[in-house]
Amino acid sequence: MSDSALFIHEGVPQPPVVNPQASFFYKKNQTPEHATQTYINGIRSGNVSLLSQAITLLESTRSDHQQIAHSVLEACLPFSGNSMRIGITGVPGAGKSTFIESFGSCLTQRGHKLAVLAIDPSSERSKGSILGDKTRMERLAGDPKAFIRPTPNAGSLGGVARKTRESVILCEAAGYNVIFIETVGVGQSEVAVHSMTDFFLLLMISGAGDELQGIKRGIMEMADLIVINKADGENVPKASLAQALYQNALHLFPPTGSGWTPAVLTASAMEHTGLDTILQKINDYFTLIRANGYMEQKRRQQARYWMNETINETLRNRFFGNPQMETLLPVYEQKVLEGSLDSFAAAAALIQQFDAIHGSTL
Ligand code: GDP
Repeated sequence: MSDSALFIHEGVPQPPVVNPQASFFYKKNQTPEHATQTYINGIRSGNVSLLSQAITLLESTRSDHQQIAHSVLEACLPFSGNSMRIGITGVPGAGKSTFIESFGSCLTQRGHKLAVLAIDPSSERSKGSILGDKTRMERLAGDPKAFIRPTPNAGSLGGVARKTRESVILCEAAGYNVIFIETVGVGQSEVAVHSMTDFFLLLMISGAGDELQGIKRGIMEMADLIVINKADGENVPKASLAQALYQNALHLFPPTGSGWTPAVLTASAMEHTGLDTILQKINDYFTLIRANGYMEQKRRQQARYWMNETINETLRNRFFGNPQMETLLPVYEQKVLEGSLDSFAAAAALIQQFDAIHGSTL
């Protein structure tokens, strides 16, 4: 009977998500110390393949991968921090990939080394990643001065964002002096991007009707520069109109802590127009915040934010990843669902059990 296809066999618990590409990284005959040193040397000498592999290790949940990744990260930290970290957001279809390709090429032609990273909130829900497709930026992908990395596609937004932030450090240690972090303009992920960049660029399009309602006020408020893209052909007058509209809207926002007045520009990513002015604005911004100390101050605040985020995530993982808690949690969930226990009492009881396991109080 138990062999019948109708009989329900209990499943085998699956291991946490492990990046399948991570398996070939370090060879069996290599010690973790040796592997770590290989990655550090590789990254410092700008070896793209080793940089890529180290990022994949960061994204992996296997503890031996994590261990190597963290040693590499630590060794890279003193060589990080020297880039312009630029967040780029905009609703799907605004032209982000076209713009990154076009503006990115403009930067590499001027001798910059550019890394493009992404935070894609959709990866939380499905495996499909909208920002993960390298073919979107074919020209940049083939540019030796550019490094494109799709979004890490496992875990919570917080986890994904933290991995992206750690990737920034590795890219900087590899000599990339401009980092783009791309995200779609849907809300939460902007806050994450804002917390790891110095400059926030919002890409918009005109002619989509009630422009100002399409994007959340909070996101506009974060923007250091709004670029109205697709200002080409018949669209030019509409783009200028939108520019004036946004400029007025920005006046209503309180002044920014950086002392910078956010600007609105028009551009065509397709026809490569308006890009020089954008670059000029970005340069002006960095000149200002380097001189007035805001850059340093903001990065320190970001470091504090990430310290807290890391603690949150570590504790959360420790709690939810604990095998005993994994067994207890559904029991208490059921009690709450049945109404036999209220949520606070259930949470308190679970935390008490967790403390008992760890022999401490949180
Ligand atoms: P994303 O979803 O924000 O990454 O947007 P894409 O870069 O994929 O662009 C969406 C569509 O807009 C594509 O069909 C692009 O060819 C088009 N597009 C992007 N930039 C421009 C532009 O500057 N002018 C025009 N006319 N079309 C553009």
